[in-house]
Amino acid sequence: MVGGGIAGATAALHLAELGIKVDLIEKKDSLVSGPPICHLHAGGNLYREISVEQCLDLLHQSIESVRLYPHTLNRRPTLIVVPNSDGGDPEALLPRLEQIRSAYQQLVDQDPRNCVLGQPEQYFKLYSKAELVALKHHKQPLKPESYDEWVIPFAQHADLDSIKYPVVAVNEYGWSVFRIAASAMLVLENSPQCHVRVNTRLVNMNWADDQWHLCLEQHQAGEVTKVEQSYDYVINACGFETGIVDDLAQAPRVRMVEFKAAYVTKWQSNTQQWPEVIFHGPRGTENGMAQLTPYANSVFQLHGMTKDITLFDDGLVCNSSVSSQPKLPSRLEHKITTGWSESARIERSNKAIKHMSRFVPSYDSAVEFGTPLFGAQQIPGKDETLRAADVSFAGQHYARVEVVKGSSALEAVKKIAEHWHLASNVDLSVEDAHPHVLSLTEEQVVAKAKLLAKQRGYPQELAEVYGY
Ligand SMILES: Cc1cc2nc3c(=O)[nH]c(=O)nc-3n(C[C@H](O)[C@H](O)[C@H](O)COP(=O)(O)OP(=O)(O)OC[C@H]3O[C@@H](n4cnc5c(N)ncnc54)[C@H](O)[C@@H]3O)c2cc1C
Repeated sequence: MVGGGIAGATAALHLAELGIKVDLIEKKDSLVSGPPICHLHAGGNLYREISVEQCLDLLHQSIESVRLYPHTLNRRPTLIVVPNSDGGDPEALLPRLEQIRSAYQQLVDQDPRNCVLGQPEQYFKLYSKAELVALKHHKQPLKPESYDEWVIPFAQHADLDSIKYPVVAVNEYGWSVFRIAASAMLVLENSPQCHVRVNTRLVNMNWADDQWHLCLEQHQAGEVTKVEQSYDYVINACGFETGIVDDLAQAPRVRMVEFKAAYVTKWQSNTQQWPEVIFHGPRGTENGMAQLTPYANSVFQLHGMTKDITLFDDGLVCNSSVSSQPKLPSRLEHKITTGWSESARIERSNKAIKHMSRFVPSYDSAVEFGTPLFGAQQIPGKDETLRAADVSFAGQHYARVEVVKGSSALEAVKKIAEHWHLASNVDLSVEDAHPHVLSLTEEQVVAKAKLLAKQRGYPQELAEVYGY
């Protein structure tokens, strides 16, 4: 397994739990430290442009991912809001929501363990303006549970005259990248089946005598050691750098890569527990979508789908005919390898705060709160709106895990195990197939997640459990 992001770590974990010997090769010093993951996308409702099929794939994959990583959810709803500045009609979302709800009901009927997003009949709820105005006068309980209780701060602080109705509340939960990293690392570092080789970079590979021969560079205490190692199968899970390994394996593939960033802010004057809120808007314009993702202690992550907040000039690139690796502009590559200048961080964070305060005016008192969450993600093929993707195979014993959303990782490796006939027990339930990860406690996962957040320079709140 080359690459220890959510795709490679989940794949290694699944195969190791099936009893297969795996080497997990990761060039960085820890696992799952790629681009951010804050939202589970259980139903794909953030994306108006994707097909119902993609929404249903994301729903199913998200449910399986929650069953695999049970301590990684932030259970609070998401509000989907169409502002007057957007050309869309909120009523247009409703038939698709109903289809997703009914698919969720079927999954729960098939197996009650799929009931991880609340009761199916309560998958979503609609709010009229009159209902929101009535909620303005309510006091939020300390531990909000019902939709109405979560919606109170939105009703009190959002500009209710600048949005269309109904507003949709849906049980799309938050997903903690630090607790996913913690869960995977706790299991893989103690697995007799998996050898985790961090600080190790794949630099070359060739196929001969029915095996892949890999050339690895191990970095330790400033020294670089070259190691040759042979394997029966290679899985390329290198995220936005998948194309570099495709070039080494001579397995060409068409793909795109997109660089994006989200900003960490603190809203000191807030005393309430917010749901996630999505204010839709045309991507790449000054009215682009604004996303408010809540964490503990009034820390909020912001996305703003404008060119000077989350998106970047020339941030979406395709590969060329000579290489499977799309080439980002060097100023964006530089951000990935060496980080952000303070001025760029402050400027974009402040723009994100201003963008959010168009819809939630009191948000203008929030302040930037550290390093942005950022990175590049791959999108296989040529459709930049693709959100549910998993695996492709090429040549001899070579596969690529190509996820756009983190929740597709488990599905991808299950397809690999089946395609290569790696295990006979592929029909086991998620719980029966992964006894080690399922034996972790919330305390273990949170403690490790907080440590990882600290080591990576992010506030502890991003690792804590938020919601009910
Ligand atoms: C701003 C932003 C917000 C996002 N929000 C969400 C969200 O809310 N929910 C969601 O599900 N998804 C979200 N995504 C997408 C998600 O982050 C990615 O899809 C996911 O992280 C991809 O995981 P991966 O394992 O494929 O890649 P990565 O996490 O990039 O992992 C690839 C790994 O391979 C390693 N590697 C590369 N080359 C080599 C080599 N030669 N040798 C050894 N190791 C190598 C890298 O060091 C890296 O650790 C977001 C993305 C961005 C940019």
